[in-house]
Amino acid sequence: MKNLLSAIAFVMVIAALSCKPQATSTNTENLDATFSTFENSFLDAYWKQHPSAAIFVGYGKYYENLVIPDSASVTNNIAFSKAWIDSLQTIDLSKLSDNNKISFNIIKNQLESDIWYQSVFKQQEWDASIYNLAGECDYLLNQPYAPLDARLKILSQHLQHADDYYKAALTSLHKPTKEHVELAILQNQGGLSLFGAALTDSITTSHLSSDEKDALQKNIAKTIQAINTYVEALKGIVANKNYEFRAFNIGKKLFTEKFKYDLATDFTPEQLYDKATADKKAYTHRMVETANGLWTKYYDKQAKPADSLKLIQMVLDKIQLQHAKPADFFAALTSQVHQLKKFIIEKNLFDFDTVSPPIVVRIMPEYARGFSIASAEFTPPYQKQGTTYYNIDDLTKFPPEKAESALRELNNYASQLLSIHEAVPGHCVQGIYNNKKSPDVLRSVFQNGAMIEGWAVYTEGMMLENGWADHAPEMELVHDKLKLRELANVIIDYDIQVLNKPKEEILHLLVVDCFQTNAQAEEKYHRATVSQVQLCSYYTGATAIQALRDDYQKKMGDKYSLKDFHEKFLSFGSSPVKYIRERMLQ
Ligand code: ZN
Ligand code: ZN
Repeated sequence: MKNLLSAIAFVMVIAALSCKPQATSTNTENLDATFSTFENSFLDAYWKQHPSAAIFVGYGKYYENLVIPDSASVTNNIAFSKAWIDSLQTIDLSKLSDNNKISFNIIKNQLESDIWYQSVFKQQEWDASIYNLAGECDYLLNQPYAPLDARLKILSQHLQHADDYYKAALTSLHKPTKEHVELAILQNQGGLSLFGAALTDSITTSHLSSDEKDALQKNIAKTIQAINTYVEALKGIVANKNYEFRAFNIGKKLFTEKFKYDLATDFTPEQLYDKATADKKAYTHRMVETANGLWTKYYDKQAKPADSLKLIQMVLDKIQLQHAKPADFFAALTSQVHQLKKFIIEKNLFDFDTVSPPIVVRIMPEYARGFSIASAEFTPPYQKQGTTYYNIDDLTKFPPEKAESALRELNNYASQLLSIHEAVPGHCVQGIYNNKKSPDVLRSVFQNGAMIEGWAVYTEGMMLENGWADHAPEMELVHDKLKLRELANVIIDYDIQVLNKPKEEILHLLVVDCFQTNAQAEEKYHRATVSQVQLCSYYTGATAIQALRDDYQKKMGDKYSLKDFHEKFLSFGSSPVKYIRERMLQ
């Protein structure tokens, strides 16, 4: 969910270039006030230009608008971004406050990235899955921003030209990849359920006039028809034995550029790849030692296997049997959150008691299901009031074998790391700081995925260092396995997208070297064929945060404390670590 905006930011948009960038005065003492005016008019223009993206951040002004993703919209978007970059360049960066320097850089990166996506990467030509109205319609229909009647009217308006939307989508595709065509079929078909019985019921119970109801029903019928036509056309492409698909791997040049824009980092992919490869060796070595130490506890006098990877796997197999029952899983994780809060206060890791964040642990709502067992959920940036949720899926609703395999994966040790990552002090705490301490909405709407995932991963290691779980060897082994997954994400992303390595080699790395199940490895392989760079965000972010912490400690000397580092770091909101670094080390 957190990367939704970056994923859809490039998803075509209409709108004539009606809102011209405003000239900005410089050389005044009031430059920061001027900048904040600039920022506000930029954001409003941006959402007008990209109304579908605006829906996901909760900016309601342009909800009715739907951009027809034709070639004119691409030209128009590029012109829009260029004009705002020109306008931005008239501002003297050096005279801005720390906070605004970061905002300046975030806006610049976003606009340059938008141009690159449409003029160089050209995802609109080869990724059929970017054309899908279900996600934004789900928001329009189900977010509590207005009473139901109003939401239904907005939905009706939004869908007026759904037929043109999907027609343009088909025209825009030029030699798509097979993988994304298949994904588009699956996701668009899945999206149809949104326009089914539940929506019809809502319309019946609404207070719309009968004319309004008729118009809405017509627009929904038109949308369903358009989606079906799109899906049929894509199925035709897949069925055509002679169709020349584009290869899904993007190669070194595009990967390097995408890496730079998406992650906003100074690392090169090769630097990260080499570091991940070296780390993988080191973690494996450590796991051999830990598994050796645990062997007799779990296997008594049984002879150890000669293969050290087999040894690790056998010890992990025993640890994974220690897990909650499906009916107790929710209570176990709720209790972990309570303990984790206590721990970070006792250990003085955050100024947490004064923040007193309302994290609500709840059973995962229907609409959020199907991605992961647990997730952090925030209110959209522009929707001011709201709650931070730690969603946990209801495992009693799973078929027994599926619940068992999920619980082995989220055993008594791994589930603690999950609660650290998603809730305290991972995503939920970071999200709360982002809203409370960095009220600048810009950081929330153009949030940096590498910072956010890097933070959550960083906190797993940080909590263990500070004595969470009392250095239990089981916890160390399970945590090291998670680290291997993070490292493998970087390695296979590059292996697949740049080095074009065969699937068998990738699956071997995931299953044998990194102790994943066959099902997990297949799923990961598929994800690595339809996404690029995103799998690198966890390790890139965590590495940058760790490096910043080391350098900050050197800078502060005797005055350094972990709490001070955390408070300072999080006060910059969800900005790229490299911009935070410039401010913290200056
Ligand atoms: Zn079991
Ligand atoms: Zn995460």
